[in-house]
Amino acid sequence: MTTKAEADAAPVILWFRRDLRLADNPALNHAVATGRPVIPVYILDGAGDGRARGEASLWWLDKSLRALSAALSERGAPLVLRRGDSEGQIRRLISETGADTVFMNRLFEPYAWARDRDIAHALTDDGVECRGFNGSLMSPPGSVLTGAGGPYKVFTPFKNALLARAEPPPHTTGPRSIATVSGLDSDDIDAWGLHPRRPDWLGGFDWTPGEAAAVEALHAFTGGPLKTYSVGRDHPAEVGGSRLSAHLHWGELHPWRVIQAVRKAADEGRAPPAEADKFIAEIAWREFSAHLLHAFPQITDRAFRPEYDAFPWLDDNAGFTAWTRGLTGYPIVDAGMRQLWATGWMHNRVRMIVASFLVKDLLIDWRRGEAWFWDTLVDADLANNVQNWQWVAGSGADASPFFRIFNPTAQGERFDRSGDYVRRWVPELKALPPKWIHAPWAAPSEVLRDARVRLGHDYPRPIVDHAQARDRALAALKAIANSKYDD
Ligand code: FAD
Repeated sequence: MTTKAEADAAPVILWFRRDLRLADNPALNHAVATGRPVIPVYILDGAGDGRARGEASLWWLDKSLRALSAALSERGAPLVLRRGDSEGQIRRLISETGADTVFMNRLFEPYAWARDRDIAHALTDDGVECRGFNGSLMSPPGSVLTGAGGPYKVFTPFKNALLARAEPPPHTTGPRSIATVSGLDSDDIDAWGLHPRRPDWLGGFDWTPGEAAAVEALHAFTGGPLKTYSVGRDHPAEVGGSRLSAHLHWGELHPWRVIQAVRKAADEGRAPPAEADKFIAEIAWREFSAHLLHAFPQITDRAFRPEYDAFPWLDDNAGFTAWTRGLTGYPIVDAGMRQLWATGWMHNRVRMIVASFLVKDLLIDWRRGEAWFWDTLVDADLANNVQNWQWVAGSGADASPFFRIFNPTAQGERFDRSGDYVRRWVPELKALPPKWIHAPWAAPSEVLRDARVRLGHDYPRPIVDHAQARDRALAALKAIANSKYDD
């Protein structure tokens, strides 16, 4: 119970960022535990993560903030929305309310990390207490180090060290009521225009952002696809994975909560332990990405392996446009790119296929692909996106070697054997039988005629010949000075 003295004490500003939840939220728990009034605020700062946020991301943010705002209002402390430079807005709130403390869950991306540190120093100099907590990772960067005291550059030993070291904090449900300061100005979220209307290219998005929906998605996963995750996750026509990536990115769930739910399902015999382990390893990739980016901030723009910065990328704008529009003539690639455009999300296996196609078949710089994903993914996450693009490009830490070049036809035949995924996203090919759906250019003319596919009219011919593109890519690889690889 809050005493009168506590309620009269200077309020605490609770700065929400990518921790848009009430459960398992250390900054919120600590703020409420002070017994002082808590002012929850979200600041729309155009600087985002150091680069402007993509439109799909903002679409998610819009809905997630509305959900958080409703949950906070129910507990008596409406979310204050402010727009502008973060430090300026925090200072404005301090002068309006007399707050002398700011609590936040930390962000670990290079730009946000440096900005938060500068703000904390400046406010501390002015007598304001600033405290950061870890609300987004199993273990914060800097806490999982090699025997020599440096960051891990290889995934498996990192994962082993992480799982051996990191301890789940106790689950907390979040406060039932929150004392606050009333009467503060708050922006109208509609006026922020986060949901792009013209053109409303996100009209087909079928997601429910917010903490309650995230918890439901977690239960749906542990009660279903988890059982066969290791195989199901590779088949894009099925719901084989959790689809939790955007919920995790925006902090609608703590990763420990996800892991504990998965472990519980295994302990109770609802899923084989090996499936739970495989899933937890993917969450560990998320951690690995965050730790890597924190330790090597240059990798947002430069290759982790510096020799790849000299790679002879092609300036192929026509190829890039065909890729973004899902018109490359390779059905699995086109299906993935269209799924991304239509839903703001793409299946992981297909992300690897389309990324490999861009970088190796078209020889287009991975940074262009990364930027496209950044704008179009609802789960766009700087660390995960950069790490995975560099993994595919062969330039990252513990990356897939460049000379391992995915054959898009073989990948389609292996992981979308029935062709159902392609049929769903490339409807002009829907009448093709499974035998030809991943290689329509090779189909006999009567098969194409029966399926009403006129190559070059209804569906493009391949924009590159994969076998030739492969040879070209391997030749380009040789051009890298001091390359460690040969084919
Ligand atoms: P699940 O298979 O259910 O995995 C559970 C969680 O583990 C995911 O939600 C995610 O948080 C994490 N995870 C899974 N795979 C990876 C991985 N390879 N690397 C890091 N974390 C992982 N993921 C993003 O969250 N944001 C991105 O911007 C992003 N960009 C990518 C770009 C490329 C080129 C590739 C190949 C992968 C990218 N991924 C990214 C990783 C992965 O594709 C998605 O996390 C996954 O498809 C999300 O679906 P899910 O939630 O069903 O995953």
